[in-house]
Amino acid sequence: MSGVQSDEMLLQELAGDLAAWLRRQSELGLTTLARREAPRPAAARPSAPSERQQAAPPQSQPAQSQPPLAASSRSPAPPVASAASSATSNEAIGRRMEEFAQSVSQTLSSNRAPDAAPQRATTLAALRAQLGDCHRCPLCDDRTNLVFGEGAEHPRIMFVGDMPTADEDRTGRPLAGAEGELLTKMLQAMKLTPEQVYLTSVVKCRSNPARRPHPEEVRRCRPVLAAQIRIAQPEVIVVLGGAALAALKPDETLTAEDRGKWMELHGVPMMPTFHPTLLLQKPELKKAAWQDLQQVMKRLALS
Ligand code: SF4
Repeated sequence: MSGVQSDEMLLQELAGDLAAWLRRQSELGLTTLARREAPRPAAARPSAPSERQQAAPPQSQPAQSQPPLAASSRSPAPPVASAASSATSNEAIGRRMEEFAQSVSQTLSSNRAPDAAPQRATTLAALRAQLGDCHRCPLCDDRTNLVFGEGAEHPRIMFVGDMPTADEDRTGRPLAGAEGELLTKMLQAMKLTPEQVYLTSVVKCRSNPARRPHPEEVRRCRPVLAAQIRIAQPEVIVVLGGAALAALKPDETLTAEDRGKWMELHGVPMMPTFHPTLLLQKPELKKAAWQDLQQVMKRLALS
């Protein structure tokens, strides 16, 4: 994937996520957003951003405490910030964001060769084709195979690990090796068929040696997972392991207590549970993992 395609994918996913967030706010009855004045630049030269600020991923799903449509001190200002009224309907802003995403796509397209890949993938296969031989983060140097994900186009459950396992990296496919065998047994116990699940990871390439994905790697790969969720529209996401959960919720302080509790990702209910690798190391945790999965089964009326 070229740099232009990568940047475009990121911008499109950001705009798409923001539009989806606004739609959800409207569904909740929050139909207007107050406009905030942009903070005036300080007279003194601002200090350099902290390491955490530099590493922080873009807020593809803005926190409610900081409405993303408030005027920003960054330039150029997004189109929505130029609204004349002090309060604008979410529906109108959502439309503006969709238009903004399209204009980004068209602008970048004008600088690209005519045989470039489609702008906004509508199928998982098209998204995979767009991703190509991705070199967007340093993990590309370590991987044997890019493990995009596999499963139903519109699954009931999407399982998300942190990064491919060693066997997945070797084969290029999820569900490989001992972890895959255990996960397969878990799916069978949940009475799920292959047509009902999709398996992927936060980052699609494995580090060597194995470690947690770095925040910058997560940030670089985030648009791919966001697009997979947008296209697949799973009913539930099951997060496998603390590393995956921390990568998906970088701005939240998470503890072991958060396992087994419903959360949300891109508007989809999300259940964190143990990673199969840990369950292989500590079989005594299988009972708790099964309780997590039973909550998912209950939500999907599988039991
Ligand atoms: S982890 Fe994601 S962003 Fe990094 S090289 Fe692999 S596919 Fe590209």
